[in-house]
Amino acid sequence: MADIVDSVLSLLNWKLPFKFIYSNEYWMLDLGHHLFPVKKYRMLYERVIALGASNKDFIQSEPASDEDLLLVHSPEYIKKVMTGKLSSVEVQALELPFSPAVVRFFLMMTGGTIKAVENALKTGLAVHLGGGFHHAFPDHGEGFCVFNDIAVAIEKMKKQGKIDRAMIVDCDLHHGNGNAFIFSKKDYVFTFSIHQVDLYPTEKPSSDLDIGLWSGDNDEAYLSALSPNFPRLYQEFKPDLVVYLAGADPSQQDMLSGLNVTAEALKKRDKIVIGNARKLKIPVAIVLGGGYASEIEQTVETHLNTVKVAISVWKRNPQFLVTSSIQSE
Ligand SMILES: [Zn+2]
Repeated sequence: MADIVDSVLSLLNWKLPFKFIYSNEYWMLDLGHHLFPVKKYRMLYERVIALGASNKDFIQSEPASDEDLLLVHSPEYIKKVMTGKLSSVEVQALELPFSPAVVRFFLMMTGGTIKAVENALKTGLAVHLGGGFHHAFPDHGEGFCVFNDIAVAIEKMKKQGKIDRAMIVDCDLHHGNGNAFIFSKKDYVFTFSIHQVDLYPTEKPSSDLDIGLWSGDNDEAYLSALSPNFPRLYQEFKPDLVVYLAGADPSQQDMLSGLNVTAEALKKRDKIVIGNARKLKIPVAIVLGGGYASEIEQTVETHLNTVKVAISVWKRNPQFLVTSSIQSE
């Protein structure tokens, strides 16, 4: 597969009709000695540039507005976050050294995912070199997630009439508890989560489809659980937009992962999720997630593989038509 992807890259000559969303602010966040590897964002950006991308292939993130956040989060929670008035218990749940810089980081990340879905609807595919904060709830944050960028972006597209229905395909190692909760009573969003069961979060609100794997599960277990659902779910639910949370943490190299899943299997995962959407002409916005390998380069490599698969899939299915009756701009 590596050979195919590399030959595709050379053939493309980087005349890509889809964009990457990024901000240099992402990696400048100083979290001190923290598990969350913000430097991976810069390293990934540099690897994408090294593939041959140039500035014109990137769109700069902008911070999400209060109005955007209010589509998902409660006014009380937003106010507490913006004024630094979270209680010590609330800060503890975030597992982050809370500061104005952290707030800015999550505003930028949320705005970045909004740009990613907007661009995916225009061109069929967009990749946010960030995002994926699926543990944030309307009234609280947890597990390194302050605001739920995916939920805010989907709700904004819905409010603007750009989509009727969306699907979240969450392939992070951890269950997408925030997304599952937020959309539990909203039938216009289908939530899918494939995750390791015996890990955080202990409480897992039901997604529309949850697939739980166990510590020790290998490539075959992972792919045989994932693949029967695609393209089936796309054909049945008929989303106007897929937001794909391409988590790097299911990797066997990840410190948090108990799964025995290789890089090759994760590339196949990316191909199943992105390729099947592409064949059905469903726009895909890709966001990153997780990634706590002991060597940060391993996490960056996993994310880069997702980017390469997206390029390869695009090359094989270059024609894109908006199938929804609702036209994007
Ligand atoms: Zn995770």
